[in-house]
Order: sequence, then structure tokens, then C-alpha cells
Amino acid sequence: MAFTEKDLEHLERLARVRLSAESREKLRPQLERIIEFVRTLQATDTTGVEPRAHVGHFEAVLRPDAVKPCLPREDVLAAAPERRDGFFGIQELYRKREISVVEVVREYLDRLERREGTVKAYLRVFPEEAIQDAARLDAEGIGGRALFGVPLAVKDNICTKGIPTTCGSKILAGYIPPYDATVIERLKAAGAVIIGKTNMDEFAMGSSCENSAFQVTANPWNEAYAPGGSSGGSAAAVAADMALASLGSDTGGSIRQPASLSGVVGLKGTYGRVSRYGLVAFASSLDQIGPIARDVRDCAAVMEAIAGHDERDATTIPEPPPDLHTGIEKGLEGLRVGVPSDMESWEMETPVKEIALATAAGLAREGASGRSVALPSIDISIASYYILANAEASSNLARYDGVKYGLRSTSDSLIDMYEETRGEGFGDEVKRRILLGTYVLSSGYYDAYYAKAQQVRSMICAGFDELFSACDLILLPTSPTSAFRLGEKVADPIAMYLSDVFTTQANIAGLPAISVPAGLSPEGLPIGMQLIAGWGQEATLMRGALGLERMYMFRERHVRGSRERNGRRGTE
Ligand code: GLN
Repeated sequence: MAFTEKDLEHLERLARVRLSAESREKLRPQLERIIEFVRTLQATDTTGVEPRAHVGHFEAVLRPDAVKPCLPREDVLAAAPERRDGFFGIQELYRKREISVVEVVREYLDRLERREGTVKAYLRVFPEEAIQDAARLDAEGIGGRALFGVPLAVKDNICTKGIPTTCGSKILAGYIPPYDATVIERLKAAGAVIIGKTNMDEFAMGSSCENSAFQVTANPWNEAYAPGGSSGGSAAAVAADMALASLGSDTGGSIRQPASLSGVVGLKGTYGRVSRYGLVAFASSLDQIGPIARDVRDCAAVMEAIAGHDERDATTIPEPPPDLHTGIEKGLEGLRVGVPSDMESWEMETPVKEIALATAAGLAREGASGRSVALPSIDISIASYYILANAEASSNLARYDGVKYGLRSTSDSLIDMYEETRGEGFGDEVKRRILLGTYVLSSGYYDAYYAKAQQVRSMICAGFDELFSACDLILLPTSPTSAFRLGEKVADPIAMYLSDVFTTQANIAGLPAISVPAGLSPEGLPIGMQLIAGWGQEATLMRGALGLERMYMFRERHVRGSRERNGRRGTE
């Protein structure tokens, strides 16, 4: 179906984005192809299927208006269980006082100084504040704090009080949040030391980190390659040992895909497991914050620290989050692992397929039982994802209008000011998304695209419900390729979108999923495998992930000089 210049002009007005003649010329054929791509959904029979806008069953609630006294900090800490087995190996050293937090943070900052010039994982680093925090922690002692002295990096779409939060966008340049996101409060309470904010694709839209308005992050394994995206900075910071762990956000794969391409572990919890309060919204029914770390147990520790109900986010799960420590050692023992029956026919690079098939074949050795399952179609998932995510994004990003945040263009009328600010402030990918989202929500197209995608969402959710009655986990690759070259996919949005072909399903159904580094491609670039678990089943997910980690021994085999977990300090 032709998407004419007139159609584009109409959309520009609806979306309040003014394009330059040059970008109009570039964006029109791209949008035409993307619309063609998402139109493939039309072939799916959705007769009688109820559309679904959200995975949770939420009720509108009014929060009580009363001011509540909070417990004194000492009381809260006194009630916290003493942890005998904090996962971060480094804590053993802190406890024995063999090393100080200041020393560790310095070590990370020194390494950052050496590597950051070429990796460019960070948009902002706070060396002085980090050292101050470290000194304070040393004076206080570890107590029961699970992330005590852990140098941690945070994706720049997570609000940090008094510290610029740009979301990789010019439109937010100069925005300084007056509050901390809930996850930041929780990290601080758990004793983490936040050392910087990491680079990302603008508004978390992208799979290579090249859509950042500020800089391009390189893959630490080979700097000619992309680290993946959109949490590419967070993945690269951990991969280059410039942070012990980091936070990313995952709307369609943005934690797991860069973790896979950068050789680290990336976890997205069940939708609602982690508060989105203070996360700059991309697609609210899909977004989740989650950890990236060097190994499964470190990921579990960060997840435990940030998870749990939050009064300020009505979509958080009210039940207490699961304990991810107890029982994790059992690994894959006794678990029923579903392997998609048609996986062998999926398009992916040969080394990725080889590792996926070898993993499936090796499950029995780990005490798990593998079984062939019918996964909801990956093709319809990706098409519906790009409709739903962009529809929500076009609405969420309407707030950047030159009035409330950052950038403002000078113009004679209010409407011109909106259109020009948005035209100048957003990068090409974000504009493509806003225009596409506006298109699928616009009168005449709503039913054919947005409502259809919501019906497909119901079908995907139902497909998973059935699947998880017969198995505990599903195994599949994280991404069809290992890292690609910087620049390789920038001109072809659909090729870029297909990086997420194996990850969007978990977001659409709100399920927890993790990427574990599994092996290397012939070029020496990491390849990750993914596990998906049923709703709320993070504990099973982490067990399975630990099982995979033991099976692959990725760090032992491929990461030179990795520090030993417990006891000694390794060499760099
Ligand atoms: N790469 C996907 C996209 O561009 C996923 C993004 C994300 O998870 N934030 O939409």
C-alpha cells in the first residue's frame, strides 16, 4: 500500500513533528516499508479474540491521602534478614575487611579511565561522589546490605535526583529530575555505589546504541562492533569491567539483546515486578527495569534489591517478590524445559543455531527434561510489538513539547513551537516511531493495526498460558546474530528491528526472561541463550539460568583474568 507524501504531511501534523525536506525524503520510503512489515499481521485470523491492552489485571486505585510516618532507618535495617550468602563475591572481602569500598571503587574508576575513551559506555560519571559514598559506606560497615560496596551503573532513562537524565535525547538536554526513581532509592538503601549514567538509544528505541544523540558506544569485545541496544551502555560498562553491575530497561529486548551481544547476563522480570516510577516511559505496558551483571547470581542479587511493590506505580505486583537465593543451586535439575519445535527453521546465524541445538541436546545431562513445544509465532510477535510499542510511545512522547522539559525552539505561534521543537529535538528513529504510532492509532487505521495487534497480544498470552502448563522454562536464542558492525544496520530499520525477533514475546506476555552468555562466534563475539519462565516465576528462571551458566562456563572459558567469586582478588 502506497504511503504518499500527502499521508506523511498529514501524519506530521497529527504527531506535531515537523520534518525537514531532507528527512521527509528519507523517512517516507522507510515508513512505507515498516507499514508493509507490520501489515503482515492482517493474515492472522483473530475472529472472536478479545483485544488486550495490558498483561496485568489492574484496577484504578486512589492512594490514601494521609501522610504516613516512616520507620526509622535503624528499625528497618534491624528487621532485615542477615544474609549469609550475599552473592557478590566482593562482599566476602568487605566483611573480612580485606579490602575497602574506596579501594574497589577506585579500581573501577581507574579502569574506566583507561577503557572509557574508546568504549564510550557512559554519558556521565561521578568519580568524586562515588568515592565519597564509598568512604561513608566504609565508615558505616556492611550491616545486612545486599549490594554493599557494589559499583553500579544506571541507564540514562532512569531518573536520578539532581543529576541530568537525558534518555539519550537532545530534547531532554538540561533536564534535571527533582527526584530519584524507586529503583535508585532501593539501590542506595542496599548500599550500592552509583558511579555513572550510561549511554542508550534515544528513548530506548534501537538495538545498537547508535541512536543516541550524544555518542556511539563500542562493544568491548571488538570496538568496531555494536554492543547491542538499547541498554548498550549498561551492557558495555559491565563487559568492560567498568561497573560490577548495571541497570537497563527492557521494552522489547533492550536488556537481553545487548547482554547477549556483550557477553554478560541480562534479566527482565515479570511485568510489574520492578517499579517504573522514575523510568522515562517508552511503552508503558511493556517497559521493565532490570539488572545486567557478569553472572546469574549477581543479577539475582540486584533484582532482589530493586523488586517489589511500589505505591507510586499502580502496575507493580502487590505480592512480595520471590526469594532468588534459596534453591538456585539446584540449577536445571528436575525442570521441564520447552524447546520450540520449529526452532531449527528460524532464521539465525549458524553459530547461534548450533549453540541453541547443542544446549537443547545437553539438557538431560543437567537433570532437566527437554520437550518440544509450539511457541506462539515469532513473526506475529515482532509485528505486533512494533505496532503496540510505537502506539504507546507516540502517546508517551507527546509530553515533550518544548513547554515542560529541556529544549525549546523559538517560533511565532504555539503550534509552530511544538512542531519545531519536536522536529529538532528528536532523532530520526524516534520520529519514525512517533509517526508510525500516530498512524496505527489514527482514525481509519486503528482497527486494522492497533486493535488487531491487541487481539494478537491476547493470542500470544493464551499461547504461553497453555505452554507453561506443560513446562517450567522455554529455551531459545536471545538474538539471531552475534554483534554486528557499527553502521551495518543504521540505514535499514527493519533489519535492526529483527534483532529483537526472539525477545519481544516475553514483553508482550509480561513474562520474566534472561539472557546468559553461552559461547563465541568464529569472530570471537559473544552469543547468548535465553530462558523464559511463566508469570511470576523468577525463582525458577534463575535456577535454570544458573544451570545454563554452569553448562557453558562462559566466564571461565572466555573472560581472561576474571575475578574469582569468593575469597581472592583476581588479576585484571
Ligand atoms: N530494540 C527494540 C526497539 O527498538 C527494543 C527496545 C527496548 O526494549 N527498549 O523497540
